[in-house]
Amino acid sequence: MSHQTTQLIHHPYTPPQGFVAPQLPVYKASTVIFPSVAAMRARDWQHKTGYTYGLHGTPSTFVLEERLCTLEGGLQCVLAPSGLAAIANVNLALLQAGDEVLLPDNVYGPNKVMARGELKAYGISHQFYDAMNPADLAARLSNKTRLVWLEAPGSVTLEFPDLIALLRLCKARNITTALDNTWGAGLAFNPFTFDDGQGVDISVHALTKYPSGGGDVLMGSCITRSDALHQQLKLSHMRLGFGVGANDVEAVLRSLPSLALRYQAHDLAARELVLWCAQQAEFVQVLHPAWTPSPGHVHWQQVCGTAGKAAGLFSVIVHERFNSAQVDAFCEALQLFKLGYSWGGPISLVVPYDLTSMRQCWPTGLQRGTVVRFSVGLEAVDDLRADLEQALAVLR
Ligand SMILES: *Cc1c(COP(=O)(O)O)cnc(C)c1O
Repeated sequence: MSHQTTQLIHHPYTPPQGFVAPQLPVYKASTVIFPSVAAMRARDWQHKTGYTYGLHGTPSTFVLEERLCTLEGGLQCVLAPSGLAAIANVNLALLQAGDEVLLPDNVYGPNKVMARGELKAYGISHQFYDAMNPADLAARLSNKTRLVWLEAPGSVTLEFPDLIALLRLCKARNITTALDNTWGAGLAFNPFTFDDGQGVDISVHALTKYPSGGGDVLMGSCITRSDALHQQLKLSHMRLGFGVGANDVEAVLRSLPSLALRYQAHDLAARELVLWCAQQAEFVQVLHPAWTPSPGHVHWQQVCGTAGKAAGLFSVIVHERFNSAQVDAFCEALQLFKLGYSWGGPISLVVPYDLTSMRQCWPTGLQRGTVVRFSVGLEAVDDLRADLEQALAVLR
């Protein structure tokens, strides 16, 4: 080691052991160094017993996986580089050519796009079912059905389905169920026990939303209680190379302790704004699971409890007499609500949607008009209400 460069790489100094601080260290690695060839050969990347390569786990990812299992009541977890990658992980791990996957018509949009794109190209067929009508799901289940996606509430329109009825239909036929549990965040209800101790097989999260809480991280998770399913997900996760960055893992770990407090703050503010919006004549309908007239409110009560939690999302349907340019102008007139996708961060967001281009048919129970989805951030609710008020004046 006569050269300075070599000395800098293979430096003999190691800091003293026993450093303890509130946050975990950030373990960054592609390469993991083995003590011997025997150890290298004996590597087991599948069972969290050691380390083999950054892609297969580090102390950072293992810790986040365990904390997410605790949050959701699951036993095993794989992390993916986005919520959508977690969805892809489930689809690609469980489906083969000749299989069929069923998705709610109001499922997270890109899950549909994947079904029409990659899954179709791989010989996997799909159907969209009306999540608000269990009989519609029942009629579409067949011997080809290998996986049923559930989501509660539905994307954008926030109708809460009869999760218990949907789950029982699948269980009766022994069909695997996967729930996109991003909205519930592991707080609103337990995905593995909501039906009298029974629940879905896999719970998927976009950690991008509330668990990250900053609008600056993309990550997803697939959580199960079944070892066999977990091994299937883990194998496909390895083959797909779905690694996550250690700094992103650290950001989520740092945000998790405040998850419940933030979720409650978003929830309370959203309910106040829902009450106010329900009084505005320009909005013909307000969609929010805890709002009594909202589609599926009773199912939300059933699964989340009468005093249950409900996240910070709500949508309004703007009266048909306003054209889409006027609704766009309303959204642009908002100052605190920014135009942007995703949700779960400190900044309130708004997106106008043209449902006719997103759904097979207009959802039952929904008035006609343009849908505007709000994600309530952590600003003072009085300021948000004033912002809605001034933008509504522009619409009028
Ligand atoms: C955002 C979101 C996703 C996807 O998460 P990304 O990290 O943005 O890929 C999936 N499902 C739901 C319900 C979401 O809101």
